[in-house]
Amino acid sequence: MMDKKSLLSALPKIDESLADISSSTQSIPARLVKLAVRHCVDAERQRILNNDTSCVPLTSDQWHKRFLEAVAAKNQMNLRRVINGTGVVIHTNLGRSLLSPPMVEALQRAGAHYTNLELNLSTGKRGSRYSLVEEIICDLTGAEAALVVNNNAAAVLLTIDSLALGKQVIVSRGQLVEIGGSFRIPDVIAKSGAHLIEVGATNRTHLADYEKVITDDTAMLLKVHTSNFKIIGFTSEVSAEELATLAHAHGLLAMEDLGSGCLVDLSSFGLPQEPTVQQIVKSGVDVVTFSGDKLLGGPQAGLIVGRKSAIERIKRNPLNRALRIDKFTLASLEAVLRNYYDLDQALNTVPTLRMLTQPIEGIKKRAKKLMCRIQRSLPPGCAISLRTTMSRVGGGALPEHGLPSWAVAFQLQQGTISALEHGLRKLLLPVIGRVEDEVFLLDMRTVSNDEVPELADSLITFWQQGTLS
Ligand SMILES: *Cc1c(COP(=O)(O)O)cnc(C)c1O
Repeated sequence: MMDKKSLLSALPKIDESLADISSSTQSIPARLVKLAVRHCVDAERQRILNNDTSCVPLTSDQWHKRFLEAVAAKNQMNLRRVINGTGVVIHTNLGRSLLSPPMVEALQRAGAHYTNLELNLSTGKRGSRYSLVEEIICDLTGAEAALVVNNNAAAVLLTIDSLALGKQVIVSRGQLVEIGGSFRIPDVIAKSGAHLIEVGATNRTHLADYEKVITDDTAMLLKVHTSNFKIIGFTSEVSAEELATLAHAHGLLAMEDLGSGCLVDLSSFGLPQEPTVQQIVKSGVDVVTFSGDKLLGGPQAGLIVGRKSAIERIKRNPLNRALRIDKFTLASLEAVLRNYYDLDQALNTVPTLRMLTQPIEGIKKRAKKLMCRIQRSLPPGCAISLRTTMSRVGGGALPEHGLPSWAVAFQLQQGTISALEHGLRKLLLPVIGRVEDEVFLLDMRTVSNDEVPELADSLITFWQQGTLS
C-alpha cells in the first residue's frame, strides 16, 4: 500500500479534470460539472485520510469515467419515474396513488394558467380555496361540511388541536397505532395539546370502558382505524355508532380517523368489507378524517368531513392556514372526486381503484406479454417463468389481505438475486420488484399495459450491458 502522502499528491487537479471531460459536458451547466468533479476528488481524499486500505491511485481513464458518471448522476432529476413491479398498489415509498390523465390535466392547467383559486367569480370578491371542493366532498360523503389539509396526519393534528386543546381525548388501547413515517397517535394527541386517556385492553375495548373515564375534562372520544396491523382472535371494539351515541349523551364530540378512507365498497371485488366514509359519517360521529392518496386515489391530502359546527371550529384554527393545500392538490383532488359521482366511472378511471379491481386474466396476459418480449434476450443462466403471487393494497389499508395476481419470476443459476434486484433499481428507468426465496418477482398488477414495452426494453438493455456477469 502506498503511503498517505503519495496517495494524496496523486489526486487529480480540479482544473485539469474539468478540461479532460469538457468535450462531453458542454451542454451541462459548468457549475454543476465543477461541483460533481470536486465532490469525486473530495470523496477520494476523505477515504485516503480515513486510512481506507483499498485506496490505490486511479488511472486517468478511471478518473475520467468516474467524473462522467458523477456529472451524469448530478445532472439527472432526483425525483424520477420508476416501474412498480412490487404489486403493492398504494406504495408509500413509490408515491402512493397515481393520477389519471384528466387529473394530470387539471393539475397542469392550474400550474400553467391563472385560476380562480381564491376569487369568487360571481361576486368578484375574495373567495375561499376550500369552497372549490367542499360541496363535492359533502355530496359524496353525506357530510354537512368539509375541509382539506396537507395530509391525513395534518388532518388529525388540526382536528384534535381545534376540538380538544387542553382537554382529554379518550382512545382504545388497541388503536394507539404508529403509521409509517413516525406518525403515532399518542404523539399527535400530545402535539395537538390534548391529553390522551387510554382505555380497554390491547385486544378488547368495551363501551363501558370509555364511559367510566369520562369527566368534565373530556372533550372527545376518538376511534382510530388500525390500518397497518390487525388484531385477530379474541377481540372486540366499539362501533363508530355506539361511540357517537355515548359521546353525544355526555355532550362530547366523537371523531374517527379512518386512515385510508374509501368511498366505494370494494367487497364485491374480493376485498374485505371495510366501512366507507359515507357509512362512518352516517353513524353519527362528528368528524371523520382520511387520506387523499390512499384508497381515494387522488393527490396527497387530508380530508376532514363532518358536522358543520365542528368543521367551522377547525376552519377558524390559525394552524389551518399553516397546513393548507396548494392549487395543484386542489386541482387534482377536484378532478378525482368528480369521478365518484358515478361509481362505475370511479372504478374504471381512478388508477388506484382500477389496479385493485382489475380482472386477474388481464394481469396474466400482461405477464405473458412481458415474457414474450424478453424471452429471447435472456442472458445465459437466467430463467423466467409465470407465477401466481399475492399483491397488496398498501398504504396501511387491509394489511393482511393479499390479492391474487400474476408475476414474471426470474431465477439465476449463477450470481445472487440481490445483484439483479440492485442492478434493475439502478437503471435509467429503475425497475422495482420483490425478492422471495431467491426469486425476483415482477408483479404485473402494478405495471400498466403501456409500460410493458418500456419495461422489456429496460430489462434487455440491462442484460446487454452484462452488468450481472
Ligand atoms: C395513513 C394514515 C394516517 C396518515 O395519513 P397521511 O395521509 O399519510 O398523512 C393517519 N391515520 C391513519 C389511521 C392512517 O392509516
